[in-house]
Amino acid sequence: MLSLDGLTKAYPHGGRHVHAVNGLSLEVPEGGFFTLLGPSGCGKTTTLRCIAGLERPDAGVIRLADHVVTDAERGIHVPPDRRGVGMVFQEPTIWPHMSVRDNVAFPLVSGSRRRRPSRAELEHRVSAALGIVRLDGLGSRRATDLSGGQQQRLAIARALAANPRVLLLDEPFSSLDARLREEVGLELLRIQHELGVTTVYVTHDQAEALALSTQVAVVQGGLVEQVGSPREIYERPRTPFVAEFVGAANLLSGVVTERVNGSVTVSTELGLVRVQDDGIERGERVLVVVRPEHIRLEPDPGADATIETSAFLGNSVEHTVRCNGESLRVRVTASDAVEPGRTVAVRLDEARLTMVKDEAGAR
Ligand code: ATP
Repeated sequence: MLSLDGLTKAYPHGGRHVHAVNGLSLEVPEGGFFTLLGPSGCGKTTTLRCIAGLERPDAGVIRLADHVVTDAERGIHVPPDRRGVGMVFQEPTIWPHMSVRDNVAFPLVSGSRRRRPSRAELEHRVSAALGIVRLDGLGSRRATDLSGGQQQRLAIARALAANPRVLLLDEPFSSLDARLREEVGLELLRIQHELGVTTVYVTHDQAEALALSTQVAVVQGGLVEQVGSPREIYERPRTPFVAEFVGAANLLSGVVTERVNGSVTVSTELGLVRVQDDGIERGERVLVVVRPEHIRLEPDPGADATIETSAFLGNSVEHTVRCNGESLRVRVTASDAVEPGRTVAVRLDEARLTMVKDEAGAR
């Protein structure tokens, strides 16, 4: 549905050019909820703005539903209002002097649209869009009288009213408080499922990305590090950056000492660890990815690991545990929590461990 090929964009900074996006390529399948996830400054917004046509890249090609909408080399740049995309920005962009209804209707009757809808069609499209975001009944209110969450839903309704082929959302809920953000996020998921509109969502919040997306692209330094389903990204990270950025992870450095039938033995600070993996050779340096929930603790006065801290999180407890010079994050159910200062034996759930090559350690 949407593809980016070699997208590159640099901005001048103190007399030189800094790459915001650096040869980024992606395929977004039709009907999916596709998320660009990465830290601040990694180039997510610039990528989204290039897709919308609000930025002209220095290099690269963007195809939307089999049409080339951007080709930097050939000088092709289809203007934003001819791309069939709807965009929702970080801050709610409402027209404060207009009613809720007129905020949705205005883009349909203004600008360079080739065909204006009839009065009846306009009514129908505005009501349908407000109905989808559950703002029906509030159409005659002034837009400024809506709450922050409602204003962002209004912005989504306005983007949807034009029946876009692709919906682009740039951290749309970042100005809302945590509880409301979760609620509006789930609401967006319902809308996306109901309409099946291809959606590209930008966020730096890994929990939000995992909860909402059908596919996630983890972006760093203007490039894609890994693309996959939320489960793949979480359970099979392919780089140390992905392992640490998506969810919490203890990374144990070690060397592969043995390889037998799809599993390897890795020598680490915590001793020998078995990991299911068939892509890594003997002698290679690796980082074993141990999620906090992959560790079990057994109180044992003779053991050499000590509970340092204990944070109560409601349905679980997160400990830091000092073990053979390593500090480990461990998450246990509240009933299995151990008092700080106690000694414990550390048991790894080996069936769930993964590993990545330790490129830095190998140098
Ligand atoms: P954030 O989540 O903070 O918005 P991001 O991942 O969306 O970050 P971008 O906004 O795409 O990142 O910015 C990528 C880099 O490009 C940053 O270093 C930023 O300072 C720079 N940049 C972006 N837009 C411009 C601009 N108009 N002029 C100069 N530099 C820019």
